[in-house]
Parts: sequence; C-alpha cells; structure tokens
Amino acid sequence: MKKCISDRIFSLIADTAYESGTEAYVIGGYVRDCLLGRDHDQKDIDIVVKGSGIDLARKVARRISPGIKVTVYRNFGTAMFRTGNHIIEFVGARKESYSSDSRKPIVEDGDLEDDQNRRDFTINALAISLNRNNYGELIDPFNGISDLDQCLIRTPLEPGRTFSDDPLRMLRAIRFASQLDFSIQPETFESIRKNAGRISIVSYERITVELNKILMSSRPSLGFRLLYDSGLLEKIMPEFYKLKGVDKKDNQGHKDNFDHTLQVVDNVSAMSDSLWLRWAALLHDIAKPVTKKYIEGTGWTFHGHEFIGSKMVPGIFKRLKLPMGDSMRYVKKLVALHLRPIILSQESVTDSALRRLLFDAGDDIDDLMLLCEADITSKNERKVKHHLRNFGIVRKKLQEIEQKDHIRNFQPPIDGNEIIKMFNLKPGRQVGSLKSSIKEAILDGIIPNEYKAAREFLIKKAAEIGIKPVEK
Ligand code: ATP
Ligand code: MG
Repeated sequence: MKKCISDRIFSLIADTAYESGTEAYVIGGYVRDCLLGRDHDQKDIDIVVKGSGIDLARKVARRISPGIKVTVYRNFGTAMFRTGNHIIEFVGARKESYSSDSRKPIVEDGDLEDDQNRRDFTINALAISLNRNNYGELIDPFNGISDLDQCLIRTPLEPGRTFSDDPLRMLRAIRFASQLDFSIQPETFESIRKNAGRISIVSYERITVELNKILMSSRPSLGFRLLYDSGLLEKIMPEFYKLKGVDKKDNQGHKDNFDHTLQVVDNVSAMSDSLWLRWAALLHDIAKPVTKKYIEGTGWTFHGHEFIGSKMVPGIFKRLKLPMGDSMRYVKKLVALHLRPIILSQESVTDSALRRLLFDAGDDIDDLMLLCEADITSKNERKVKHHLRNFGIVRKKLQEIEQKDHIRNFQPPIDGNEIIKMFNLKPGRQVGSLKSSIKEAILDGIIPNEYKAAREFLIKKAAEIGIKPVEK
C-alpha cells in the first residue's frame, strides 16, 4: 500500500497526527482509485481523523505553509485546503444513525470502524493507516479488495439499511458502476429496486451531480440502463424513461428510441468530452413519445419532435437544477437543429440551405455535425455507410461556403441604426423588415456578405416601398 501514500504530504500528516496524539487514515475514493491504478495525481484526498479533523487540518496546513487558506465547515466537522494538485479534506471519525423520514443523520464521535460502517460501498470504505505503529497498512473490514478484484459494487452493511439511510447511495452505486465499468452485486441491486421510490426525498441538486458523472463516463449507456432497470429513471427523468419500448401496427414497428438514444450518447462520448454535447445527445429525441403517430401507408412518424423537444429542454433543465444560461441554450439549439444536416445530406443540397444552417448553428456547427453523425445508427451497415458518405459531402460543402462567405457568426453588414439614419426612419417594423431583407439576400446568395453590395441592395429594396435615402 506504500505506493499509494508515497507523496510527502502523507508523511507530514502522519507526523502531525503523531505529535498531536491522534490517529489519521486515508480513506475512500483516493485509496480505491490508487488500487485500481486510475489516475490519482489530481485526486481529492479524504483523511479521517480520530477526534477533530478541523484541528489536524489546521496544524498540517501550518506546517506546509502559514499562508495556506483552510476552509472549515463547522456543521459537518470538516476542513479542507489545497496543496499542489490535491484538495485535502479532513473529517473527524463519526458514527451516524438515521431516522426514516429524513436524510439528516444523528452524528456522534466515533472511531475508524464506525466511520467505515457509514461509508456507501465496500470499495469506498478502504482505509490506509498513517499511524506510526502500522503506517501503510490497509484496513479493509468488508473485503473491499476482493470486490475491487471482482469489479463489484456492494454495500458494507445490509443494503436495505444503507439505502434507506441515504437513498442518494442508490444513484451513487449506479454512477460508480458506470464510471468504473463494474457490476452491482445482485443483492445490492435488488435492494435498489425495492427502495427506488425513496429517491423522492433527495434533492435534485445531489441527483444531478450523479447524473452528470454517469454522463461523463466512457460509456454512459451502462449507467442509464441500470437506472432504467432499477426503476430510478422513471422517478427522476420520466420523460426519458418514456422513450423505451416499441409500438406495432399493421406489423410495423419503429426503433426503440431509448436504445437508439443511448447508442447516440455513447457515440458522442467516444468523440467528445463535452458534458453539454452529451446532454444534447441524451435529449435529442426526447419528444418522440409525445409526437409519435402512425399514419396509414407511411408508417410511424415523429413529426416536429425536434422543435417540441427543444421546447422541453428548459423545463427539464430547471427541474434537474442544471444551469439555465448558455449551456441550456446550447442544448436547446442542438436539439432543435439535429435533423437539419441529415436532411441536407439526403437532398441535392443548395448553397442557400447550407448558408442557413451555418447561420442558425453559428459556432456550434461542429458540435451539431458531430451529434448528427452520432445519430446515424442502424443495424444495416450499408445504410450507415451510405449516410456517412453523404454526410462527408455536406461537411465539405459547409467548409467551402464558410470559407467563401463567412456566415458562421455573421451580423448583417448594415445594422438597424444605420438604416434609421440613412432613411430618416423611426425605429419600428419597417426598419426590422429592411434589415432582415439584407440578411435573407445574403443567405440566399443574392448578394455577397459585404457592405457595399448590402447598401446598394438596401437602397433598391427601400425604393420598392417608396423610401429614399436622405441627402447628406
Ligand atoms: P469521486 O470523488 O471520484 O467521485 P469518491 O469515492 O471520492 O469518488 P466522493 O463523493 O468524493 O466520492 O466521496 C468521498 C468518500 O466519502 C466516498 O469514497 C465514500 O467513502 C464517502 N461517501 C460520499 N458520499 C457518501 C454517501 N452518500 N454515503 C456514504 N458514504 C459516502
Ligand atoms: Mg472524491
């Protein structure tokens, strides 16, 4: 275990604990990830202390440098500071007991064993001693090492108790399974299914932290399938749960939109680490259940699901307590536009349609293209290849047009103020319509995206409705 605590910081904590007559242990995620060989250079380090975590944190920080800022959370009995790549958090060992109607435990001082009992999973309860008598010894009361070897998530105590004490742990189980590509031990999973309804007492802020971590795992589908199978998805994201299933009429079915969406999310995740692009993938077909229709002769349709879906995004973000600013607008936009590149790749495409796509997507065009490519899922490989080839052509044409016309972030070369001055108009509808006629003419390729051409076009357009520029 010594390799996990080779950093100088650990001997410093050990010396300080010894001199203060107390005990300290490294515990939790740091130990787990070190044993798994996951990158732990950047990892937060949790130290559990017999007695006051706050006192020891202050003493250690002072020894590193008197200037270090120690943040203290007195209510939780914790203190933390940053040093090098690590944030080190100290907590006093404690014993927790819960009543059934609240997440707030009754907390008492305890020893290492009590503290390990309150941990969520065996693999998160592993501790390494920083004490003189057994420095570097692994303390593993629940056989966490064997669970690490077998890639298993299992609760240290009877699972029903662990989950009813803090139902968020059900989501954490799934999050760790997804992040680490582990299985959840059957008895533990059965208990999650039994207790899924209890998730209702957990705040969405905490739920969403876990959802984001599931989405950031290499294959988020692992986590979302477990969420579905456990009954949790229905409780926390009912609109996503509804994507599952296939209706049949006249012997015709449609794709299972849940499976399809997860495939798209995995495809996107293989190409990008962007959390918001992954959210866009997760929500891109969210309105399929509400727009689904069977039309005789045509089959199943989901007409308008991209627009309705994009309108659902703010409500979902709000409920999940996700940020309501630029990230939400980005997801909304990608959901709204997700069919556009595909449609272009199927028709003989005009430059004007490409310019409009560039204009509407702006700087997000590359992400949109990535999402659309990820959206091409089919069991028929020839079909996928065919679509991808057409898609390549759209990509190339988009590049050519962007190089020529610079549409991506374009603002029409003449703005409203200039139009007002030029024709001595009052701000209003007429100004707006003249301004947008310039934009339309550029997007349609009638005039180039240049000032002189725009001015000439504007004068001609204004003359058609009987307006002349004022003499200077
Ligand atoms: P990571 O930080 O990589 O997401 P982690 O295991 O460090 O993983 P944290 O949420 O930082 O997870 O928590 C640190 C440790 O605290 C965990 O390893 C676990 O022992 C304990 N822990 C955290 N949340 C809970 C909880 N809800 N119930 C029980 N123990 C918990
Ligand atoms: Mg952590």
